[in-house]
Amino acid sequence: AGARRPPHVAMLVTPGMGHLIPLAELAKRLAARHGVEATLITFASTASATQRAFLASLPPAISSLSLPPVDLSDLPPDASIEMLMSEECVRLVPALTEVLSRLMETTRLVAYFADLFGADSFDAAVATGVPRRCLFFPGNLQGLTLILHLPELDVSMPGEFRDLAEPVRLPGCVPIPGADILSPLQDKSSPSYSIGPIIRTDAAPVASDAPRAACLDWLDRQPPKSVVFVSFGSGGSLPTEQMHELALGLELSGQRFLWVVRSPSDEGAVNANYYDAESKKDPLAYLPAGFVERTEGVGLLVPSWAPQTEVLAHEATGCFLVHCGWNSVLESLVHSVPMVAWPLFAEQRQNAVMLSEGVGAAVRVPATKRKEEIAAAVREVMAGPGKGAEVRAKVATLQKAAIEGLLEGGAATAALDEVASRWTGAEHA
Ligand code: UDP
Repeated sequence: AGARRPPHVAMLVTPGMGHLIPLAELAKRLAARHGVEATLITFASTASATQRAFLASLPPAISSLSLPPVDLSDLPPDASIEMLMSEECVRLVPALTEVLSRLMETTRLVAYFADLFGADSFDAAVATGVPRRCLFFPGNLQGLTLILHLPELDVSMPGEFRDLAEPVRLPGCVPIPGADILSPLQDKSSPSYSIGPIIRTDAAPVASDAPRAACLDWLDRQPPKSVVFVSFGSGGSLPTEQMHELALGLELSGQRFLWVVRSPSDEGAVNANYYDAESKKDPLAYLPAGFVERTEGVGLLVPSWAPQTEVLAHEATGCFLVHCGWNSVLESLVHSVPMVAWPLFAEQRQNAVMLSEGVGAAVRVPATKRKEEIAAAVREVMAGPGKGAEVRAKVATLQKAAIEGLLEGGAATAALDEVASRWTGAEHA
């Protein structure tokens, strides 16, 4: 009789909405297509209002629970975000072992999922005898290729990536300048050799019964493809000076814009918001004098968080000024929105190289980040006849490919069916 209970999967969600969203999306697909139930296991340190609302909006087949808080106060104050996540994960193994034992008793637990930062938690799955351990790699092939070649690169490359005279050449990938390689790999002396947040999703609806966000009503009143959407992911924020240039650059571009504004990063790390999606202070207070008044009606400023997939799906959205987090990039492509690339940290810089020089789906803002350069990149992607037109055509082609892959019988759907039916015992045509 036990075998007839629905198959159940447990998923460890490391901090960051960009990790939660794609895992939840995968759980939803497994539930819808394979009758799989899922338990999302979150860290106590990430219990933000945004995360709670997101978890509450998931279908009944997906439940969640939070692990107990962990003391990380003994870690160095400048510990990287990757180190914090991995270390928290190691220290949670005993608590996680208890959670998994309980799930083994009460459900038909067929698989345990963790992402790259959660690999140490596999110890808990082994201890409790969960039949399968899956490492969820939600990044792209470029990122995976880099990781698979790291042992080789480590031997052949004496110094740091950023000091290389020649770009890094990987099979099937556009050459990547050393300085643009994944940020946690930029310091070989760092104790944490783990890789950056690499994540993936196709849609991320938040709380279906919540009132419609005001920024969507604002978009309803704008002409088709007229608005530049500006957002730096769930955790990114800019130093004050760049925030000013961006504001002035948007104004100079003459385009309408919808900007998810966060307080500047100067007081903390560039990814300080990662553990908590809400800004600590009023972000609008940091904008250049008179900017809000001058751009009234043309621009809309949303503090901290916007319903990004709905914004990208809206017909008024014409371009996405994006930090190149992989979820955001995929969401943009699925909705055929051309991109202006403004990478910040983790693998975002190498994604920016791939998108602008390899794929041709984005124009990258020069490193100097002057307002004139920002305005020019935005204008080019919105309406430019040269590179901009190519980028707009390219994203339309990629949207078609993405949608086809996800259709019944499409490549992505077939691959998921194949792997899931191995552990659920179900047959699929
Ligand atoms: N996101 C959102 N609203 C925001 C900012 C981000 O809904 O204001 C979502 C976005 O749609 C994406 C995820 O958060 O699914 C961010 O993931 P990504 O990989 O792009 O970046 P990260 O947050 O990991 O840097």
